[in-house]
Amino acid sequence: MARLLSGLADVPVTKLHGVGEKKAEALSEMGIARVLDLLTHYPRRYVDRTQQAEIRDLSIGDEAMVMATVKKVGTRRTRNRRTIVEVDVFDGSGYLRCTFFNQPWRARQLATGTEAVFFGKVDMYKGRRQMSSPVVDLVGDRTGRIVPVYPQSEKGLLTWELASLVEEALERAGDFAEPLPAPVLRELDLMDRTRAFRRIHCPETMADAYAARKRLAFDELLRLQIALVMRKRAVEREAKGIRHLIDGELVGRFHDKLPFALTDAQRRANEEIAADLAGPHPMHRLLQGDVGSGKTVVCVAALLTAIQSGHQGALMAPTEVLAEQHYIGVRDLLADLTVPDPATLLGERPLRVDLLTNRTTASERARLHAGLRTGEVDLLIGTHALLTEEVEFHRLGVVVIDEQHRFGVEQRAALRGKGSDPDVLVMTATPIPRTAAMLVYGDLDLTILDELPPGRTPVRTVWSRGPLEEAEAWERVRAQVAAGRQAYVVCPLVEDSERIQARSATEELERLRAGILGDLRLGLLHGQMPSGEKERAMTSFRAGEVDVLVATTVIEVGVDVPNATVMVIEDAERFGIAQLHQLRGRVGRGAAESWCFLFGGPGPGAEERLTAMVRTTDGFELAEVDLELRGEGTILGTRQKGQSDLKLASLRRDKDLVRRARGVAVSVVGEDPALEQHPVLADEIRTMVDEEEAAFLFKS
Ligand code: ADP
Ligand code: MG
Repeated sequence: MARLLSGLADVPVTKLHGVGEKKAEALSEMGIARVLDLLTHYPRRYVDRTQQAEIRDLSIGDEAMVMATVKKVGTRRTRNRRTIVEVDVFDGSGYLRCTFFNQPWRARQLATGTEAVFFGKVDMYKGRRQMSSPVVDLVGDRTGRIVPVYPQSEKGLLTWELASLVEEALERAGDFAEPLPAPVLRELDLMDRTRAFRRIHCPETMADAYAARKRLAFDELLRLQIALVMRKRAVEREAKGIRHLIDGELVGRFHDKLPFALTDAQRRANEEIAADLAGPHPMHRLLQGDVGSGKTVVCVAALLTAIQSGHQGALMAPTEVLAEQHYIGVRDLLADLTVPDPATLLGERPLRVDLLTNRTTASERARLHAGLRTGEVDLLIGTHALLTEEVEFHRLGVVVIDEQHRFGVEQRAALRGKGSDPDVLVMTATPIPRTAAMLVYGDLDLTILDELPPGRTPVRTVWSRGPLEEAEAWERVRAQVAAGRQAYVVCPLVEDSERIQARSATEELERLRAGILGDLRLGLLHGQMPSGEKERAMTSFRAGEVDVLVATTVIEVGVDVPNATVMVIEDAERFGIAQLHQLRGRVGRGAAESWCFLFGGPGPGAEERLTAMVRTTDGFELAEVDLELRGEGTILGTRQKGQSDLKLASLRRDKDLVRRARGVAVSVVGEDPALEQHPVLADEIRTMVDEEEAAFLFKS
């Protein structure tokens, strides 16, 4: 019988002949307890012996790999007390010195007589050829042209010990069950499962290793996608959604009143959302749109759709500043709109929008809670205060969650729980590449606003690298203020301490007031200010009573003051791309020309980040750069489940595989929702997700 992964997951590594007590302990230190763990402990890389050089032939500047035996080891200390380990190795053709700085353990690792592969750049030191801190692989005396090198921990097993255990495991496992039908394998050009497991551990050529990796990476992605698609279907099955009235009057009147025409992207988004709202299943949709793409009017239309069919809406934002601003903006957008009310003389009453944050007074709150329960409050806007127990809705119909990345999955669920299966729209202004979205938000439908409203001039971004350029930036601030515009100065990011960050903003305000911006009206905004003060600072900036707002990153999210046309970001090298992009999105919100000045010197990765910011204002392009620079950990980090199974697949390298896996998952689950015709696949999904999740997914 062909081997199922669940079978391998049940067998402890101690069943292998090669594993005694001591090895079992070392393996467990590496997180390997079961045979499946061992087989999915994939090589980190390979040593291709066909690429091996002879020491005799090495020239200065070469990047080379040599296989040699340690002849002599010495350790010495420099004057500033750093250790240097010097190892002389010999490969039959010549001698080479390998030097290691501050790695005293190398002397133990590379005892005389040890055979190892050394990979590094050849340079000249005191007239002889050497490699400084080469990569070392203790491959042992294994034969074969391509030798796998396994990830190792300091106390763990050596790479060749692992290799021989893997070989035993593979041999005893025999043939693996194949989860995919042959036509799919052919179409995607994937090798079969059994061969893939063998080839990834013992490839005959590098091409072999790559092909094996591709197959197994695809399997990881497919399992994740199948679980996500099944989860989506399960939610749809479980929940009885509300069929909203989508051709009521309210939305139409709202759109007629807008002082601008919707963009095509907004129109498309409205249609997709309306179709969800009219449908029998609760909506579960992500609205991704770059800063300024106009997400607010789209979500308001969704909320009004609920209201016009006799329900209530809720809009949750991550910060007080943002909630208050949404409240002000939405209230203005909805002024003069009415809803039917048979109890009144005219048969209608004004639409009621309320705000709930931690600042809401107790009496106000009591009034609000009552209005929510009777249904008199049509739309509630607020922070996570919305999640408190006392908040009970009469008939909650649509929930909008702004800036998803600040809320956890549980909070999404908590808000959804305030109604009976309301429709949920999650909005994010942190674009992530579409393929990444498939991976992270695969249980949500996706709508992208990929168009900015017309008439925006892209923000001109300048990297001010020195005092002269900085002086020019301040000149621009002064000139814009003189022209009736406003500016932001964003203060350095101080890690982990809001208090220190607040202090640095206060100091910066004093410095500017005493110096270069002394004659302008300056305001201050930071997270440590009492909410009332924060609100006053924002109100007076919005009203134009303040020329320059000195702020911390609290303004990062959603602050909308179209008259602000300049932003100075200090110590920009300390910010990540996503954050810089969010900050910059605070200017360029009107038709006027806008500027963003990035102050900053060198820092790790600063050159790439800041030049990318200068080059483009496209959030999706920047998201790709971010992914390149930081890797997927930052995107996948927020996802708890399923990610442990992603050992090979990489968002960066495997975009195409992500898309294909998504496609296969959708079609497989579409035809066979409980995976009854795909028993091997079903077995793997159960093995990879936890029990509770599996019970949920497979409940029919
Ligand atoms: P974001 O997607 O960043 O939340 P907003 O919804 O805050 O964007 O919209 C940014 C600005 O653009 C707001 O001032 C809004 O009134 C305006 N806006 C939205 N849609 C359009 C449009 N179709 N045409 C012109 N201006 C628009
Ligand atoms: Mg917004």
